[in-house]
Amino acid sequence: MTLTTTSRHATATGPLPAHVRVAVVGSGFSGIGTAVALQRAGIEAFVVLERADSLGGTWRDNSYPGAAVDVPSHLYSFSFAPKRDWSHVYSRQPEIRAYLEQVAADHGVLPHLHVGTDVVAGRWDDDALVWRLETSQGDLTADVVVSGAGGLVEPHLPEVPGIETFQGPSFHSARWDHSVDLTGKRVAVVGTGASAAQFVPELQKVAAKVVVFQRTPPWVIPRQDRAYTEREHRRMATVPGFLKLARGGQYVVREARLGIWTGAGRLRKLFEGQALKFLEQQVPDPELRAKLTPDYALGCKRVIVSDDYLPALTQPNVEVVASPVSAVRRHAVVDADGTEHEVDAIVYGTGFRVMDIPLGHRLVGREGRTLREEWDRSGVQAHRGTTVAGFPNLFLLLGPNTALGHTSVVIMIEAQIGYVVAALRRMQQDGARALEVRRSAQEAYNARLQEGLTDTVWNAGGCRSWYRDEQGRNFTLWPTRTSAFMRLMRRFDAESYELRSPRRVSVPA
Ligand SMILES: Cc1cc2nc3c(=O)[nH]c(=O)nc-3n(C[C@H](O)[C@H](O)[C@H](O)COP(=O)(O)OP(=O)(O)OC[C@H]3O[C@@H](n4cnc5c(N)ncnc54)[C@H](O)[C@@H]3O)c2cc1C
Repeated sequence: MTLTTTSRHATATGPLPAHVRVAVVGSGFSGIGTAVALQRAGIEAFVVLERADSLGGTWRDNSYPGAAVDVPSHLYSFSFAPKRDWSHVYSRQPEIRAYLEQVAADHGVLPHLHVGTDVVAGRWDDDALVWRLETSQGDLTADVVVSGAGGLVEPHLPEVPGIETFQGPSFHSARWDHSVDLTGKRVAVVGTGASAAQFVPELQKVAAKVVVFQRTPPWVIPRQDRAYTEREHRRMATVPGFLKLARGGQYVVREARLGIWTGAGRLRKLFEGQALKFLEQQVPDPELRAKLTPDYALGCKRVIVSDDYLPALTQPNVEVVASPVSAVRRHAVVDADGTEHEVDAIVYGTGFRVMDIPLGHRLVGREGRTLREEWDRSGVQAHRGTTVAGFPNLFLLLGPNTALGHTSVVIMIEAQIGYVVAALRRMQQDGARALEVRRSAQEAYNARLQEGLTDTVWNAGGCRSWYRDEQGRNFTLWPTRTSAFMRLMRRFDAESYELRSPRRVSVPA
């Protein structure tokens, strides 16, 4: 596949249709993958609604210096659109964004894509058996809504006093302000998660000083990234099965590592030993090393895969403050001891409001509750991570408990898309206009799932992470192999659903 432009492809023009069979919300991997699958299933009456002015989701929004994937690229791509010429084992943000644009262009998605179209409200109409959607570009009805609105889309800023009083530039890493030149500046970095671990080494190269505020040190393991050679690219293009083998190899290696997170602990101990050795090699100063040594099990929080993060922290222009931020003042960030660190700019690498996506507050189901209100009652949960009792004809991609700690989520997204298409086929076969998962099926599924998570390192590893809610319930992660999820999603379990035909014929208005 040759990559051409970024965000310069033509999208749908003109007003939204009044009614569609399927409204897909979002144009990241989930939205684009769904659009391709709908077309392949012969469904053309669909739209992809994207609030931003171009497609790409995560890979449009996260353009910070150093942004890259942290699972190998052949695995972090669609199985139906392999790319033989990824430049690196771990590709960078511009290349992934361009890949998504190319997939959308090659598979005829763009005429269905309405950018600048924020879905601001949606209400299930239980008489007409349609979703009534309000968008920033007008209203429409849809038989079915597929949400690909993402889980890591709304930047989270820490709630510390004075944050708005800061006089210099400040921004979240997912909204990097490229108009601000940080060369020669004193920059505070708040947070040490996966994004910060990628941009801190880049900042270190140009800033006069980088002050990194670290609440909890992450575990760091080697990345061993490299550029693919010409010869490898040629082989991928010409040797039958080579590309499949590359992807298959990456898949197997990742799945084999699952035992770090879910096993009896032997593999985890092995990796912890290696990670501590890596830390020792990369950080010779024992005082700094002590600050950077985690006191919880590896894998409990997202593991950082990086060769340059720790070395960056050892540089003379970097200071690690092992403390949360307690306040922000006009020209300074204050640590927990009350020490003021004078800086010119602040970058927040403080993650996302996971699952608290705006759409959750905006979609109102059959019983008059928003998805958020429903989840406040029941805990964040869905049947097979995809459908929610009380919300007919709604499918959530990367919904509750479908995220992964060990491999590419594109695998999960594709499995869910297959399930959605199978559900649509079943509706058509049965002449059904609505389907809704039975609460009993959803609850039984989640009871089993939560049991599977109990002994994993995510729940029992001795850390606080964004994987779990305030009660400690893990609402984000899939507990086992991705092959188990793929198997589960291969068949649409109609017996878990109530399928309905129209009560009365109505023309949606
Ligand atoms: C910095 C970063 C690095 C990551 N690295 C990895 C990795 O290495 N491996 C991995 O497996 N995963 C990674 N992830 C997770 C990543 O989010 C998923 O892999 C994947 O990109 C999610 O795709 P998506 O389409 O479901 O959601 P997104 O890519 O988040 O797309 C959601 C889209 O929905 C749109 N939208 C939201 N609400 C509305 C609305 N109301 N109306 C209209 N449009 C709306 C948004 O604008 C956005 O374009 C990373 C995430 C981040 C933030």
